Amino acid sequence: MREIRILHMYSDMLDLYGDNGNIEVLSYRAKARGIETVVEHHSVGTKDTDFLKYDLIYLGGGADYEQQLLANDLQSCHDEIIKAYDNGTFFLLICGGYQLMGEYYKDSNDEVIKGLGMFPYHTVASVNKNKRCIGNIIIEAELNGEKSKIIGFENHGGQTSRTDKTFGRVIFGNGNRFESDDEGYFDKNVIATYLHGPLLSKNPELADYIIKYCAERGGDTIEMNPLDDTLEQKAREILFGRLIG
Ligand code: GLN
Repeated sequence: MREIRILHMYSDMLDLYGDNGNIEVLSYRAKARGIETVVEHHSVGTKDTDFLKYDLIYLGGGADYEQQLLANDLQSCHDEIIKAYDNGTFFLLICGGYQLMGEYYKDSNDEVIKGLGMFPYHTVASVNKNKRCIGNIIIEAELNGEKSKIIGFENHGGQTSRTDKTFGRVIFGNGNRFESDDEGYFDKNVIATYLHGPLLSKNPELADYIIKYCAERGGDTIEMNPLDDTLEQKAREILFGRLIG
């Protein structure tokens, strides 16, 4: 049987708004196509993680405090993580995880957390701690050449700049900065975004995009038979109606 190997990093610390649910959605939707998922974990102090063996590396979101706690451990894995990215491992990064893969994150206490520097953006917390980007968000992204609406929930003080390749154009909500047009960061094998949700339960198409990428790393083309997403589509329609009517 075909298999997707997932490394879930810091699942004990980065799980805002049910971000760990994204892994459950991936596993469920992959299994429905006859693809098994093997999920392994890396957290602070985990020794000898072999980053190269994974098809997907996933980090959820967390508050400044958790980001500080795990920053040194993340740095200690710097070279291996970069190698995995260069080797084609897909990276799905949510909010706090998104920020940590950039150049740096300057938090709300003016402390600079060095990022992995995998991507060119950086993030600075808003000066007013009570002013955050909070609420539902809809963006338009392009998956496999098709425009698609992606919906989620954002809650971040961090303002991210220099995202030369953005995940989507903001239709409703804030995005990378207060009232910005751009949201997230997107390249061949990375999607980094402020959207919690969990993101993938609200956007089945995006889940399938990631599954297909990971399952096809072996070289074969995978037929992704459609699943019954009636409930998901209804939930999306209601939210679209409410937010952008
Ligand atoms: N600490 C970050 C911020 O507030 C990330 C928050 C999150 O992951 N939701 O900007």
